[in-house]
Amino acid sequence: MNSLKRYWGKRKFKKTFEPKGKVLKTKKQRFVVQEHWASHHHFDFRLEMEGVLKSWAVPKGVPEKAGVKRLAVQTEDHPIDYINFEGKIPEGLYGAGTVKTFDKGKHELIEKDKNRIIFKLKGKKLKGIYNLIKFKKPNQWLLFKTK
Ligand code: MN
Repeated sequence: MNSLKRYWGKRKFKKTFEPKGKVLKTKKQRFVVQEHWASHHHFDFRLEMEGVLKSWAVPKGVPEKAGVKRLAVQTEDHPIDYINFEGKIPEGLYGAGTVKTFDKGKHELIEKDKNRIIFKLKGKKLKGIYNLIKFKKPNQWLLFKTK
């Protein structure tokens, strides 16, 4: 199954500037945090893995300090090209509002299974070991930095 189907299904590519993209065979491990002034202001956290950007909406942002726990809601996989996307998604479209890069860099995957992803971020603002732990509730994860 193509994991970008949900991403494509939500968007009108004649109207939005967002990339259509495709699943790529990439070995790079990058991440991006995009600040998004949509109907609700939030941050989108995206990790490059499995040929796409695995994505979470983090209402309060990715913590910069260890011990701060944040809710992260998993959203549809995004194409890797989205790592460079900035700009305004037009009104009336999915995710309408301005997107701006908050931080970007490389990550290093330490551990991953169905319910847990541990990785190291090497960004300009975000550095260190992070954990994403899945709740029982669908799509809900806990995101925090460890010392
Ligand atoms: Mn968003």
